[in-house]
This record gives sequence, C-alpha cells and structure tokens, in this order.
Amino acid sequence: MSIALDATHDPKLRSWVASANLPGGDFPIQNLPLAVFRRAGGGENFRCGAAIGDCVLDLGALDMLSPFGGLGAEALAACAEPSLYRLMALGREAWSALRRGLSECLREDAPRAAELAAALIPQSGVEFRLPARIGDYTDFYTSIHHATAVGRLFRPDQPLLPNYKWVPIAYHGRTSSLGVSGQQVRRPQGQIMPRGADRPQLAASARLDFELEVGVLIGTGNGLGRPVPIAQAESHVFGLCLLNDWSARDLQAWEYQPLGPFLAKSFATTISPWVVTLEALAPYRLPWSRPAEDPQPLPYLDCGELRAHGALDLQLEVALETAAMRARRAAPHLLARTNFRHSYWSIAQMVAHHTVNGCNLVPGDLLGSGTQSGPTPEQAGSLLELTAGGKRPLRLESGEMRTFLEDGDRVILRGWCERPGCARIGFGEASGSIV
Ligand code: CA
Repeated sequence: MSIALDATHDPKLRSWVASANLPGGDFPIQNLPLAVFRRAGGGENFRCGAAIGDCVLDLGALDMLSPFGGLGAEALAACAEPSLYRLMALGREAWSALRRGLSECLREDAPRAAELAAALIPQSGVEFRLPARIGDYTDFYTSIHHATAVGRLFRPDQPLLPNYKWVPIAYHGRTSSLGVSGQQVRRPQGQIMPRGADRPQLAASARLDFELEVGVLIGTGNGLGRPVPIAQAESHVFGLCLLNDWSARDLQAWEYQPLGPFLAKSFATTISPWVVTLEALAPYRLPWSRPAEDPQPLPYLDCGELRAHGALDLQLEVALETAAMRARRAAPHLLARTNFRHSYWSIAQMVAHHTVNGCNLVPGDLLGSGTQSGPTPEQAGSLLELTAGGKRPLRLESGEMRTFLEDGDRVILRGWCERPGCARIGFGEASGSIV
C-alpha cells in the first residue's frame, strides 16, 4: 500500500508558484493531482496537466523542455496525450518518478523556474474532460450507515440484508453517461409506481437525488483469471476523484428488485476532473478495523497492511446552489459533511473482491465507493437520507424548501485531507446542474 513518505510530502516545501503556498488551498506542491484539459474555447488539443495553486502545469509543454530524465521522463512523455491512459498503464514506479520530477521542478529554489513558468496556464481559463476513456464503471455500496438508512426506507423490517457484512456489494454502472464537473443533467423519465396505484406510469422523475461518493481510478490492470491479492490491491490504483452518482429514487424503488439499479442510475454520473494520486494521500492513511461484534472479513479480504493503514482520512462535503441563490449571488447551502474513514469496506477490499472471480480490471476502470454517509443523520450523503425519504423537507438558508432536486439546482461535491503536521490537500470539486 502507498504509505511511504518522501521529500514530496514534506509539509515545509514551498513552490515558486505563489498561489500554491496560500493556506487552505487545494493544490499545494505536496498534492500535484492530474487531469486532462485544454484552454477553453480555442479548439486546442486536450493534454494532461498537473494542478499547482490556481494554475495548471501543462505537461505536454513541460515535456518539450525535457526538465528531467529517466523513468520520470518516460512518464512525462505519456502525458502529452489527451488521456491519462498511457501514464496509468505504466505503473506505480513511473507515477512516483513523475511526482518526484514535478515536485523538483516546482520547488521554490528550482533552477529553471523562470523557463518552466511558460508551461503554466490559469485554471480559470481551461476546460476539462474525463481523465481517460473509462471502459467500465462499477459502483460499490461501502457505507454501512448509508446501506442501513436506505434499507430502512425500502425494507423497514430488514434494513441490512444478511450478506452486507460479508460481501462488498456492487453493481455494474454505465460509462456512456459519465461526465466531468460542470455536467448538465437532463431530468430522466421512467416507470414510476404511484403510491396506492395498481399500475405504473411513464413520467419525469420527481425524486431526483445525488450521491456523495469517492471514485477510484484503476492504473494497471490484472490478467483475466488472475485475482489481485489484497496486499497488492492498492498498487493497481492510480488515484481518487469525487463522484456524484445521480439517482432517480422513484424509478429506483419500482425497478431495483431483483437485479438492482438500472435506469434509476444510468442517465448520468459526474466526476471531478482532478485525480489525486494514492501517493499524495499517503500522509492521511488510517488503520482499518472492523467492530469486534461483526463478522471479520474472509482471508482474501484481510491482511496486515489493511489493518495497519487501509482506511483514509478524507473529508467530504456536499452543497446545493439553487437558481434563486445564484441570482442573488448567495453562497451554496452546505447539506452535509462526512469522512471516507467511516467506510465499512476499503479501497483494497473493493479491488480484491472485484477480481477474486478472475474478472480483469484495465487501466481507466472506475470504481465508485457508494454513497458515503457517516454515523450521524446529518452526515448523510444523499437527500433520500437527509429528508427521510422525502418526508422531512429541508429548509435552506435562502428560505427555500427541498425534498429532492429541482430544475436549476446545482450540486457541488468537495473533498480534502487536513491534519496537523501535514500539508492540506484537496480534490477541487465535482459539480453538476439539473436542466
Ligand atoms: Ca451509488
């Protein structure tokens, strides 16, 4: 697991890019997340970039300046493409060499700073696209607090199904409707069974919701028929992003049995453009544990490294901006805040379980963590939970009421890691609007 700290994590490191040194920012020199971007509106080719302060370091332009050699140079050459795919496929030693090279280029005392500054572009003037061609998307269900709260709404007599504490539950999602932050989501229609009716009707969803999730992007894959042992699972993970699994609860309630979600989820999924590498997250690892009274995982889902540092202290929040707030330039309303540390299943367990039957993961595959809800009701990662299934409307700071999303609403996910003695690093945001 990626826990080794080196000079790139030193909290005292500062960059010659002044905005990277401001306290509270998402993108100090210790972070260096990657995205695929271009200058907005000019028809340029997309290429890979690294976030530093309020700028993007254009890795295609940087490669032309040959700022470092060796494996790092090989990794940098892979970044001139309009996708992180080639870099992802190179593996963790190459990712690490690139991180060291970028960190040395961006340090306060870097000898070629003046020359390298030509490769900086303000983030305010760029547009992003998906970090790679994502071939497959699997959405897990790793928060026991979410599973229990939602189970109680759908099945009051048996909120948590008996397999939950043994199997990391997931379903196969849809990739064609994946979008990057800023995505416009058209309200879906589908079959809905009105309460008390004897037949369903086709109608626009009236119970449109978000789900606050963490996305896991796979770097190197595994061969078909070759399960990934849990101790090696994280070496296959390139990095993490934020993920909003938009959900139509009325479609879901009618269609989800017996095979799980289908049209209630497949109309849109939004991720953040920046991928934060597992290496950048190394200072924020936590021990993973399972309550003593719960079943302990089967051996293929357990190992010493998981117990020592398999969890992640990643703070998550979701905010809502209505059309009325936007018109008045009011700040978005904070709906909930939670932490990925509460997840019942870890990233390594997701990868080990996904491949245990021999299923092959490939570079660019995306795993969703499932809605992240904390142990208390106000830490819930969906409106379904925050409004008790639509029965308890929320009063927003603007005076407006919400049970589910209305047209014009914009949902903003944010994530960051912060701890005394470490540099704060952030994920930027994943936002999307209902039209
Ligand atoms: Ca989900």
